[in-house]
Parts: sequence; C-alpha cells; structure tokens
Amino acid sequence: MAYIILMGPPGAGKGTQAKLLQERLGIPQVSTGDLFRYNLKNNTELGKLAKSYMEAGELVPDEVTVAMVRDRLAQDDAQAGALLDGFPRSPAQADALSELLSELGGSVNHVLVIEVDQEELIQRLLKRAELEGRKDDNEETIRTRMRVYKESTAPLIAYYEERGNVTHIDGQESIEEVNSKLVEAIESH
Ligand code: AMP
Repeated sequence: MAYIILMGPPGAGKGTQAKLLQERLGIPQVSTGDLFRYNLKNNTELGKLAKSYMEAGELVPDEVTVAMVRDRLAQDDAQAGALLDGFPRSPAQADALSELLSELGGSVNHVLVIEVDQEELIQRLLKRAELEGRKDDNEETIRTRMRVYKESTAPLIAYYEERGNVTHIDGQESIEEVNSKLVEAIESH
C-alpha cells in the first residue's frame, strides 16, 4: 500500500504531475478538486453544497470533504493506495486522513511539496483560465486561494516534516523535468 500526498499552492502542477505519476506507480490520482468539480457539473447534492465555497476559493467544510475522500479510497481501484492531490488541506483533514488510513491498514508514506514562485503561479492560473475556463481561476478568487493555502495548508508541511517524510521539489522547470524529479524522489524514499 502506498499513499502519497502531492502538496503545493494552486497552479503548482499537482494535477498534471499526479496524472503522469498514476500509471507509473499503479495507484490512482485522487483529486478532491476534480471530485468536487464532477459533482458540481452533475448538480448532485454534494455539488450544491460545495458550489459557493469553490466559487469563493474557500475550503469546502472538512466533514464534507473527508466523507468524500473516505468513499473514494474505499473503491476497488484504490486498494493498493492513492496519489492524493489537493487533500489534506487543513490540520483537521490531516488528522482525519491519518485516522482513515490506519483503518485501511496504511499510512501516509511520502509527502511531495511542489514549489513555485507566487508571480509564476498567478501567471499560470490566469493562463489556465483562458485555456480551461475554470470559474475559480479569476484574479480575486486566485488571491483567496493563495491566502487559504498559506494559512491553512502550508502549515501542514511542518506537521509532516516532524514525521520525516517530506520531499521538496522545484516546480518551476518543465513538466518532464519536474516529473522525473518526483519519480526519483519517490523511488529513493
Ligand atoms: P483544486 O482544484 O484542488 O484547486 O480545488 C478547487 C476548489 O475545490 C478549492 O478552491 C476548494 O474550494 C475545493 N477543494 C478542493 N480540495 C479541497 C479540500 N481538500 N478541502 C476543502 N476544499 C477543497
């Protein structure tokens, strides 16, 4: 079993890298952002609940997010583990995750933090807004998401560092270069 967390600010390339890594590692990408967007698009109860938070760039409440991840990790394709992309994002989510994984007989094996300068992030997100039309890729929401990352998510890096399983990766290089650094870090861990 391998549970790997991809961490980093919005626009760091977590989703892109998770998609590349999942085949190589044989474990699926579990992206809470993608799961929420799927529910939003299909107008499910979960989607309706998440909508206002997502549009504002704020975190969807922990109970809702944790319940969604619990269901996802129980599915057949995640029995060997998962690449967690965008989860956990708050101390309460990190606690819930370690409880959940111990129920499943696993633990967080490795935390990979992808680092990119703030200016570069904003440029990337504005470009993504043009290409993909994500509603939350507008300047005001981007600012909120950056603040939420700094306040709620970045402190988790120290939480995992105390447990000694964090690797920092420079995310400013090409997709391929970042990918090979991630693979190297995972394989040598
Ligand atoms: P992302 O695609 O990961 O940037 O997520 C898009 C939006 O979905 C975030 O701005 C939040 O509103 C929501 N979201 C995604 N993951 C989480 C999470 N772990 N906890 C709370 N909200 C989340």
